[in-house]
Amino acid sequence: MHMTLFQSCLRSRWLLLSACALALSACGSVPETRDGAGSTEDRSSGDFGSRIVQADKEPENWLSYGRDYQETRYSPLDQIGHANIRRLGLNWAYDLDTDRGQESTPLVVDGIIYSTSAWSKVQAIDGVSGKLLWQFDPEVPGETAAKGCCDVVNRGAAYWDGKLYVGTLDGRLIAIDARTGRQIWSTLTVDAKKPYTITGAPRVIKGRVIIGNAGAEFGVRGYVSAYDAETGRLGWRFYTVPGKPGVKDGAASDDVLARLAAQTWSGDSWRRTNGGGGGTVWDSMSYDPALDLLYIGVGNGGWYPTGLRSPASKSNNDNLFLASVVALRPETGEYVWHFQETPGDQWDYTSTQHMILTDLKIDGRQRKVLIHAPKNGFFYVIDREDGRLISARPYARVNWATGIDQKTGRPLLNPAADYSKTGKEWIGFPSSGGAHSWQPMAMSPRTGLVYIPVRDAAMPFAIDRSFQPKPLGLNVGLDMSGMAAPDTKAEVDRIRRDMTGYLLAWDPVRQKEVWRVRLAGDWNGGVLATGGDLVFQGDMDGYLRAYDARNGAPLWSFDAQSAISAPPITWAKDGRQYVTVVAGWGTSAGLGFGVFGWGRDGPRRNHSRVLTFSLDATGKLPALPKEPRRELPPVVPRVGTASDIAAGKIAYNRTCFACHGAGAIGGGVVPDLRYSAAIEDAALWQSIVADGALASRGMIGFKANFSSREIEQIRAYVVNAALRSKY
Ligand code: CA
Repeated sequence: MHMTLFQSCLRSRWLLLSACALALSACGSVPETRDGAGSTEDRSSGDFGSRIVQADKEPENWLSYGRDYQETRYSPLDQIGHANIRRLGLNWAYDLDTDRGQESTPLVVDGIIYSTSAWSKVQAIDGVSGKLLWQFDPEVPGETAAKGCCDVVNRGAAYWDGKLYVGTLDGRLIAIDARTGRQIWSTLTVDAKKPYTITGAPRVIKGRVIIGNAGAEFGVRGYVSAYDAETGRLGWRFYTVPGKPGVKDGAASDDVLARLAAQTWSGDSWRRTNGGGGGTVWDSMSYDPALDLLYIGVGNGGWYPTGLRSPASKSNNDNLFLASVVALRPETGEYVWHFQETPGDQWDYTSTQHMILTDLKIDGRQRKVLIHAPKNGFFYVIDREDGRLISARPYARVNWATGIDQKTGRPLLNPAADYSKTGKEWIGFPSSGGAHSWQPMAMSPRTGLVYIPVRDAAMPFAIDRSFQPKPLGLNVGLDMSGMAAPDTKAEVDRIRRDMTGYLLAWDPVRQKEVWRVRLAGDWNGGVLATGGDLVFQGDMDGYLRAYDARNGAPLWSFDAQSAISAPPITWAKDGRQYVTVVAGWGTSAGLGFGVFGWGRDGPRRNHSRVLTFSLDATGKLPALPKEPRRELPPVVPRVGTASDIAAGKIAYNRTCFACHGAGAIGGGVVPDLRYSAAIEDAALWQSIVADGALASRGMIGFKANFSSREIEQIRAYVVNAALRSKY
């Protein structure tokens, strides 16, 4: 799941260890847009996919999640370049109707922007005027929020022949008429009784809508499915991890799971309430039309420690296909090859990060490669015809492995990292948030460089010896009893200094860094590269910025008044190039680690907006309302004894912190409990935490997890946190 259970951890031992329109026509080529009669002739028949395959022929559009099937996020548009970037200004801002996390890559078809927002809503916006044409709201029930690890985000829709496809947080795949915004069909892709969610964008290949799901932190069994774009009928399904031994699913994965995967697992993950060992395909896919291969990135194991998930000591405990890239046939789901990046993953090192397909000249030979910067901190160049490793080098701070064996492709594991085996806590780089998460990277064919939003942070990993899965909420099997919040602002600042984020330009042939730009925060946005030799990225500090693609020199910035996680895109209409980004704070970092989500001036409220820019536009955002000064609650009488507080802390860290923040410090997305009136009133607290009085807003009742006494102990802990807070 995306990201980050523990983007960091907060205790002193760990802290020490973490190093821690004027001249439009003169400015380059923007192809004519295709409004004119006859211009769509060559597209009127056949597979819409040929338009995505030939995306460079219509750079005015952004037809697919990564712009092209290779997911390069490079646009040849070059009207905006070094000479005029200072004239880039705001055309318009469209305020979204939700202030939860925003991660969407908008699509653009003939000047219409199709973006998605939190709660799986879809917007059609006139790209030139910024006027909303329609919004589709799938009406995801609020209580679905409790099934997600990392906010109620959505990363985008797919477009195919006049229809849009969106996966909803509650597991539906919906086809929408792109002209009217009306639903055409809807199909449930998951068992709604289980904590599956969808946050990723579908891809459409050969008339099949491919969609995965999330939920590994809750112990589901991952899979990817293909649905007929016209009818919504299920075509095939591929499970990424085995189910009950000897029982077939009747799925495309049956043979390969029996042949390759089953013997790499032990234990009884299929017996669990939620049915599986993880391996969700929650984000990345790419497609090579010439080889006709679909590549999927598979996530982490459900229950992190292998000592819990697959406990028998066997010679092969790789747990296929966790943390792997798997190549499938898009028409049948048939397995072709796999490459496992993190065998027997127990650090949440998913391989669901963005994969780019490109051709590189390596050792004098032209190679068809898949390049990948997964969470585990190594940059992989893989032969995408057969899945063989070409090279792998660390692109970030890594201590779980000393390198990757060139022959076998296996990591040279640091024995201390196997905390299941040692039984000891281990401080690992990267953290479970990864050296790179879902925020997409980009590659420019002009520079040959890959631009990666990187993050260096550590986290302690320790097996929970008394682990008992709970019916609701996360179940990862780590001992989080030591997690606490820093006590002072100075400590917060120190931790933030040790968690570094940067934009990295990487040469995938030489496997070397070319430049980096250090950023103020660690959880920054996805990346766009353009034909104007520009790299655009929004950041945690609340700016959309442009850099020189060749050397990282900062060229332009815009104060978006809100942190940006989503990647920018570029497109054109009537001879004018535009840049669009969905601004918004939230996402996993905004929930679990609010304390680190602060901008330069402390916590920034999320202003979720679609922003669009072009040369010589002069729009301005309305002035920010004055942020109310944060006051700690009126003195709340202490609740409970020291041992109640200690027990409440364990329960809180187990189930509550993923949304309400480590140390009960909110990130500004969901209520900061220290300021909540509910902590002053035991009965009100019980009605919310036990009985679910706020379920429609995502706060379900947790009676199934806790007795009323334990719920009162959690209150004791939160009250204590409020009283202790000095920042
Ligand atoms: Ca995960």
